[in-house]
Amino acid sequence: MKLVSTRDPNTQVSFVEATQKGLADDGGLFVPISLPTLPRSFVDSLPSLSFQEIAFAISRMVLAGEIPDAHLREITERALKFPAPLRYLDEDHAILELFHGPTLAFKDFGAQFMAQTMAYIDRNESRSRTILVATSGDTGSAVAHGFHGMQGMRVVLLYPSGKISSIQELQLTTIGGNVAAIEVDGTFDDCQSLVKAAFMDRDLSTRTRLTSANSINIARLLPQTFYYASAIAQVRDPARPVVFAVPSGNLGNLTAGLMAWKMGLPVEKFVGATNINQVLSRYVHTGRVESAQAQPTISNAMDVGNPSNLSRIRALFDDSLADLRQILASSSHTDDATRVAIKDLYRTYRYVMDPHGAVAYCGLREYRPRASAHALGIVLETAHPAKFLDVFDGTMRKAIEIPERLRRALKGKKSAVPLSPRPDALKEFLVSTYHQG
Ligand SMILES: *Cc1c(COP(=O)(O)O)cnc(C)c1O
Repeated sequence: MKLVSTRDPNTQVSFVEATQKGLADDGGLFVPISLPTLPRSFVDSLPSLSFQEIAFAISRMVLAGEIPDAHLREITERALKFPAPLRYLDEDHAILELFHGPTLAFKDFGAQFMAQTMAYIDRNESRSRTILVATSGDTGSAVAHGFHGMQGMRVVLLYPSGKISSIQELQLTTIGGNVAAIEVDGTFDDCQSLVKAAFMDRDLSTRTRLTSANSINIARLLPQTFYYASAIAQVRDPARPVVFAVPSGNLGNLTAGLMAWKMGLPVEKFVGATNINQVLSRYVHTGRVESAQAQPTISNAMDVGNPSNLSRIRALFDDSLADLRQILASSSHTDDATRVAIKDLYRTYRYVMDPHGAVAYCGLREYRPRASAHALGIVLETAHPAKFLDVFDGTMRKAIEIPERLRRALKGKKSAVPLSPRPDALKEFLVSTYHQG
């Protein structure tokens, strides 16, 4: 796959190069210049394929020989060991459950695939790589689990002390092994500044082979196309048109869906649903791009005031809003509406939806009158409700089963290195703990 920077169409890189770099040198995001067309026969055969087979087939078409088949098969098999089941609520509504990975959030798909791709890139490398991530919650633990136990890889997570939930903190600080959690005496912005400073320090980044794993990495995006295809594979009546409702923050999930559609996956519409951080819906309705300070909500993984993937979406559509609107609708929803949706879903279907999925459900409900009459609405459920227990009241909370892997983290003992928010303190830590892999 050939990609170019959103800021400069003249610098082409391969998928492997884009994965290693993360961000283009000019600060832009890498976008594919052309995507393969999924053959009709492949789309028709989807119902007979397993998730891993779908993943292998799509990545093989997209990468077009860049990674040999045997390695690619290994990457997809190792990365995607958990299912993405489609659960029907009734004839017209289904939930695509994306929370069956090790950290109970959809970010596991991207993180696992990227980790396996890095391991492939480094297969003949003797020096260790340091994956440095600033996290305010879900990303850090997903990335850490992706690389956990991999030889020659170590993960350093920076999180703001006292500013993430206790469940999230335990998920980050009980992994151990090649994962170090750093508790920064500061805010999430301080953590991000420290990471930026570390990457700017050429001496440090070369000596410790610093690598970014943030959400704009193309190797995190590609695997997210697989579950859209897998959802289509699981639709009971293949003739029914599908509307996907996608809970959206930094827009990676939505970008992947649009890429899958561009490759020929049959989709009637995507609904990009946001909480009150509504940069996307404003853009879709007015064409204006206005970033803003992020507002806190109960769907906090979507509290994004400046979604970086918006530039990627615009590039994929040659900046034509009219073209984008053909396939994308968008709406924004308050916490109150989200809570009502959670209650409705439980009352009507006995389904406990986390706040992120519930925002998407709101979006689907709002869009429904404009969908074709026999469309199947599929809501992407991006996290397990057990990660957000405090959002639920008594009876519902009791109905939530805590998965074993979360229970284990909650029983673990926190292990974190305290750090003051100074670049030299982080440098000292990274250098003194860097070992040959
Ligand atoms: C990260 C996240 C989102 C937002 O996904 P984007 O790809 O950033 O739009 C939604 N839900 C959950 C649970 C998340 O962790």
